[in-house]
Amino acid sequence: MTKPKVLISGASVAGPALAHVLHRDGYDVTVVERAPTIRDSGYAVDFRGAAFDVLAELGIAERIREADTAMRGTTLVNADGTAAGRLPAAAFAGDLEVPKSALTRILHEITCADVRYVFGDTMTALRDHGDGVTVEFEHGGTADFDLVFGADGVHSTVRRLAFDPQPNPLRHLGMSGAGFTTTNHLGLDHQGLLRPGDGSAVYLFSAGDPGRLTVSLSFATASPELDRRDRAEQERAVRAAFAGQGWEIPRLLTAMSEADDFYFASSCQVRLDRWSRGRIALVGDAGYCAAPTSGMGTSQALVGASTLARALRTAGDHETAFAAYESELRPYVEDNQAKGYEAAAMFGGATQPTP
Ligand SMILES: Cc1cc2nc3c(=O)[nH]c(=O)nc-3n(C[C@H](O)[C@H](O)[C@H](O)COP(=O)(O)OP(=O)(O)OC[C@H]3O[C@@H](n4cnc5c(N)ncnc54)[C@H](O)[C@@H]3O)c2cc1C
Repeated sequence: MTKPKVLISGASVAGPALAHVLHRDGYDVTVVERAPTIRDSGYAVDFRGAAFDVLAELGIAERIREADTAMRGTTLVNADGTAAGRLPAAAFAGDLEVPKSALTRILHEITCADVRYVFGDTMTALRDHGDGVTVEFEHGGTADFDLVFGADGVHSTVRRLAFDPQPNPLRHLGMSGAGFTTTNHLGLDHQGLLRPGDGSAVYLFSAGDPGRLTVSLSFATASPELDRRDRAEQERAVRAAFAGQGWEIPRLLTAMSEADDFYFASSCQVRLDRWSRGRIALVGDAGYCAAPTSGMGTSQALVGASTLARALRTAGDHETAFAAYESELRPYVEDNQAKGYEAAAMFGGATQPTP
């Protein structure tokens, strides 16, 4: 019997996790990833609750534990840097935290022998004609699939191609931030420092490489417009938000300009009434991002992939499966999205969803 053919867009967390389970369930799986190779982004991701069941299901729980960043907690500091309190490691590192690159590498390793990976490409058109989906690729012609999944993150191309026209599903959390690494001049050892301010916040931590400090400078902004600007303008906005602030701020602003791993993003959630259309479904941040402040993005991507694959296994057809996936997962997602807003306030963001 011919195996059903599926295409997954995105080779980060949700995509390879879904690919692994679908291959095991008898699907012929292709993953297309826009980046030229597995991405090696440096920040840490954490696991909470039900995500541990998925790590076990994928057979990678032990390997993931070996990559533990072993954070020991975060000191809250006042504007002048004096200690004001202490947050336990779980506040930012969940029940287990690893570098994101370790997770994506392990997920790729367990799937690359069985799943066809196409790097450096993306889809430009999706035509769902009822009994299949015809996909056009930017570099590789056209191919037909039984099902297509968008695991391509907050700004998902699958969502744009398959779900438009729709109201804008992105909800800005009223904050943006720059991230980069610099030398660990504060000597932090598996520790974080959080300096919340009025409309801005600094979070610093060092784990893994003891010589490096990861820096996040976040601040209140009315819209995600800055994401589309160039680095010079983004840096100017960060400088304006932190102007006149003391402590380590001037030194960190200098380090920001010198960083070769500068990163800028606004905090957004994805809110959609439905996560599927016909033979096309969304998984992970593409369908229901809860924002980085929730600390649940990675857990949600894993739990989402597992729930979707289980629904396909137990339902007789994809329509029943997609409905079951959504009704089972939505309460979990809504809870995580509420957490995203609660935590945003600590980093200078909004506390309520915009309508
Ligand atoms: C700054 C920052 C800090 C974070 N901190 C944490 C944290 O502390 N804890 C935590 O749990 N989570 C954190 N997250 C969130 C976490 O990284 C995500 O929620 C999680 O990775 C979601 O996985 P995903 O696979 O759904 O999407 P993503 O990891 O976003 O992956 C999407 C993939 O799709 C690819 N792609 C995009 N467009 C296309 C296209 N058109 N065609 C093909 N491929 C495409 C991308 O290159 C990428 O590989 C953070 C996120 C950010 C941005």
